[in-house]
Amino acid sequence: MIDITQRRRTEDKVHYLAYCDSLTGLPNRSLMKELLEQALANALRYRRSLAVLFLDVDHFKRINDTLGHDVGDTVLREVAQRLLGCVRASDLVSRKADDAKAVSDQAVSRLGGDEFVIILTEVSTTEDAAAAAARIAAALNAPVQLAHEEITITASIGISVYPGDGADAESLLKHADAAMYQAKEEGRNKHRFFTRALDERASRRFALESRLRKAVERCDFVLHYQPKIDVRRRCVIGMEALLRWQPLDEGLIPPAEFIPLADDNGLIVPIGEWVLQEACRQLVEWQAAGLPRLCVAVNLSAVQFKQPRLVERISHILAKSGLDPTSLELELTESVLVEDIAASATILNTLKDLGVSISIDDFGTGYSSLAYLKRFPLNALKIDRSFVRDIITDPNDAAIVSATIALAHNLRLRVIAEGVEQRVQVDILRAQGCDEVQGYFFSPPLPAAEFADWLRRDAPAVTDWAATEPLLAAIGRH
Ligand code: C2E
Ligand code: MG
Ligand code: MG
Repeated sequence: MIDITQRRRTEDKVHYLAYCDSLTGLPNRSLMKELLEQALANALRYRRSLAVLFLDVDHFKRINDTLGHDVGDTVLREVAQRLLGCVRASDLVSRKADDAKAVSDQAVSRLGGDEFVIILTEVSTTEDAAAAAARIAAALNAPVQLAHEEITITASIGISVYPGDGADAESLLKHADAAMYQAKEEGRNKHRFFTRALDERASRRFALESRLRKAVERCDFVLHYQPKIDVRRRCVIGMEALLRWQPLDEGLIPPAEFIPLADDNGLIVPIGEWVLQEACRQLVEWQAAGLPRLCVAVNLSAVQFKQPRLVERISHILAKSGLDPTSLELELTESVLVEDIAASATILNTLKDLGVSISIDDFGTGYSSLAYLKRFPLNALKIDRSFVRDIITDPNDAAIVSATIALAHNLRLRVIAEGVEQRVQVDILRAQGCDEVQGYFFSPPLPAAEFADWLRRDAPAVTDWAATEPLLAAIGRH
């Protein structure tokens, strides 16, 4: 006879490590797939339906980044417990206690990161699944008590139902994932069911994502430059670098179509780094070629701004290119900064010490919580083009623009108006004291070589617009 206790223990341990998530003790991705396949086999045999809930904690990265990984781990364990509580209390009450625990513990799995999957075998209608999702949302929304503070968690949930939304584990999971994405896009903290339309969108998105990955490897991007004009001195003082994706086989893809995707999958980090490098390099080249001394503005997305080594990277890029930091301006949107005011203020202060300027892009469209303006070391506000567009016809927009200019000047900030398309808009903005303008009236964003030509050839004429008084009198406001 041999004692196999030790071997059994080791085998159990190996099994545990292979199939369980060590942080929460829940089944991991591989075990979840097996469980789902078993559940599907049963559903097929007994002609029952089944729902897969794909859950992603909202803004989990922010919790991790701002409160630390220990808090992040605590939150994930708490989410796991609450999910188990929901499943146990409801769907499996009719079963024997031991059995119920065994089954319900397996009904909740962690896929990794902040993603969980819940398999509901006791659903007969989509309403049942929706009710389960609502229960989960309610359980998660109760505050989580941390050592020094309380936080509230929300999650986005995507639901697919067997057999309608898929016959096998893979397609049910894929479809629940697509529905989860939809819930995120619609503002998070909600659940969405899979639909065929989502499937098409998800495949398009998937295709775009793999093309974007290749584009990053090959660096299929270009920067276009749009001039910024000082309205009083009537001269070009700088330009905004705007990213374009240039696939080999088709025309340019505008940033609105791929930046949100790049933000989601993290590709914005290498892309954004390239944008900074390229903008700095180009400006140094132009300066060496004898072009006037200009300042280049580069847009930073939320994800980039939250990169742990952002300031270090920027100062490295500046040093490598040889560009004077005072020639670089970074454009950030309000929503990025107000997410965590204290952390943002620290980052902005280090950037300021570096000599880089900061402006708020699309001002007026985000939170517009004015309190933050005085906490941040800003240099300029860019009035969003939606206000500039109707400045002549809509008195409310005109009022917003003039109030923004007054506010900015009181805080000693420069004001830039975006999206200026007509002479009369320039005139009004100038009369209201706006400092800089940017828009198609002067020039659309241009490829580098064309921008340099424009500066040499057209800039003097374009910036020398004629006397403005007759036009202003004509519209009878000033
Ligand atoms: P934004 O920073 O507010 O840039 C201004 C947008 O307005 C640009 O669109 C520009 O082409 C457009 N525009 C300029 N003048 C006019 C005008 O007179 N009329 C109208 N209707 N539009 C005008 P674009 O190039 O499509 O960029 C859209 C947004 O994508 C940018 O908004 C910015 O938020 C983002 N973006 C662009 N390049 C980058 C980048 O390198 N990194 C990041 N993170 N975001 C970028
Ligand atoms: Mg911008
Ligand atoms: Mg803007």
